[in-house]
Amino acid sequence: MRLIACPNCHAQYDVSNIIADSVTCRCGERLENKPLQAVDARIHRCGSCGAQIVPDTRLCAYCGSEIIQDEAQLSLICPECLARNAEISRFCTACGIAFDPEPIHVEGRELPCPACSALMPPRQVAGIGLNECGGCNGLWVPGENFDLLVSRAADARRARDTEGAPAPAPRVKGANPAEQRVQYRKCPECDAFMQRRNYRKSSGVIIDVCRDHGTWLDADELERIAGFILSGGTPSAALESEHERARAEADAAVAFARLRGQRERGAMGQISGTGGDFVGGLVNILTRILS
Ligand SMILES: [Zn+2]
Ligand SMILES: [Zn+2]
Ligand SMILES: [Zn+2]
Ligand SMILES: [Zn+2]
Ligand SMILES: [Zn+2]
Repeated sequence: MRLIACPNCHAQYDVSNIIADSVTCRCGERLENKPLQAVDARIHRCGSCGAQIVPDTRLCAYCGSEIIQDEAQLSLICPECLARNAEISRFCTACGIAFDPEPIHVEGRELPCPACSALMPPRQVAGIGLNECGGCNGLWVPGENFDLLVSRAADARRARDTEGAPAPAPRVKGANPAEQRVQYRKCPECDAFMQRRNYRKSSGVIIDVCRDHGTWLDADELERIAGFILSGGTPSAALESEHERARAEADAAVAFARLRGQRERGAMGQISGTGGDFVGGLVNILTRILS
């Protein structure tokens, strides 16, 4: 667990899987999501039952639990006094508070879909609020969060990838941005036309961006982004050469082809939990990879 606490109302939140740079407390206070600096502190209490203990005892006299003192096991930092605690602790061994995180509330409101005008309800992935359109299956990601989400997901995917080298597969039709139809979308916040961009220059995915408000992806673009993520993505700095770029595109295409195959076999139902709804799949893929 990685806990932060509100200085105002002392509510606690587990931010281990939260990539947003702040969370809003139930009291309205904005809490920065950054790692706490642990301090060395004396053990005064049992981490299991919170009872006071005699210094340097190995077992709690009240509940019989072991008093863990091994530094390597003290990975949980008390959000109030910053003392190191064992991951399994229920109480801080220094200040005695209970570790009891609340569910994180993510702000969000309905927005009109830039493609079909349906109202898009808010959702969240890893603490980032976004809007998914139930009408056309497009996705709106506010602010600069889109790149953050994709980068983290691709990194996590690379780190975890145990599937080995992907098998050769045909290129994805439409992966060449020049072949995609040009359709300008309006920002759901300010109604100005958004800019079209080839995501990371190499992905072949055209996204619509409002510099002030966020990123929009049409449903078919989501599929390609999913492929890009599942292929482990490739940072643009590494794509100087034509060769590397082509390889990154091919990787993304292969991963996407595999994804499409999974969907056709109905395996996406297991990922999305929504009976094989593929586009729901991207948000669910992100959720799964990032949590
Ligand atoms: Zn608060
Ligand atoms: Zn105890
Ligand atoms: Zn404490
Ligand atoms: Zn829509
Ligand atoms: Zn805008």
